[in-house]
Amino acid sequence: MTIITRIASGQHPYPVSPRRLGSARPGHRRNCAKCERDFIVGGVRIPVNKGKIMMLAAASSPAPASTDRIGPLSPVALHRRRLAQRLARDADADGRFWCSVVTTGIYCRPSCPSRHARPDHIRFHDTLDDARRTGFRPCRRCHPEGRGLTEERRFLVDKACEIIRRSGGAATTAGVAQAMGVSPSHLYRVFRQVLKQTPGTFARSILREPKPSTIRCTGSASLQGRVAK
Ligand SMILES: [Zn+2]
Repeated sequence: MTIITRIASGQHPYPVSPRRLGSARPGHRRNCAKCERDFIVGGVRIPVNKGKIMMLAAASSPAPASTDRIGPLSPVALHRRRLAQRLARDADADGRFWCSVVTTGIYCRPSCPSRHARPDHIRFHDTLDDARRTGFRPCRRCHPEGRGLTEERRFLVDKACEIIRRSGGAATTAGVAQAMGVSPSHLYRVFRQVLKQTPGTFARSILREPKPSTIRCTGSASLQGRVAK
């Protein structure tokens, strides 16, 4: 027998041990040991694998705007939550805080794809200025000073669409990649992540159009919510 509880804005992704819930009753707030988010204890009990507890939404309680702002966190809890977000490379955390690594002397966005440092070597900063004040340099992979990874991908795809459109659909993936100074495989991967189609498919759709001059790149305008996480 396990207790089904929930995170305030929806189903909670991680099982939580019964011990962690303690004497919590439905409606009580607890903090997930894994992702450091607060969740609301629900009233439903269903068996889940290995005696763990899944967090599910309780229909009666209204969801707050953001799970990030359920309540004030202690500095320790805040640090643990940020660490969990960093380890998960949570892109939603980008812009909310920055992290630096004392051993490498680099600061990053939370979503940085670089290899993780040891947790005790990571420091978190509320603002970009705080991160700069460490004297460290910005990461060359996640570019904390510039556009985010998501924006970077959209920008790249927008630019590629524009090149393909100007060529009337004749441009090849390799040619576009060369013009943009990126590798064809990178362009191909990002293009698929953002537009859910390959550069070749996009080019052929341009070729099929009777009036190429009216084709417009849909790189960022119509892709809200479709960008790869
Ligand atoms: Zn980085």
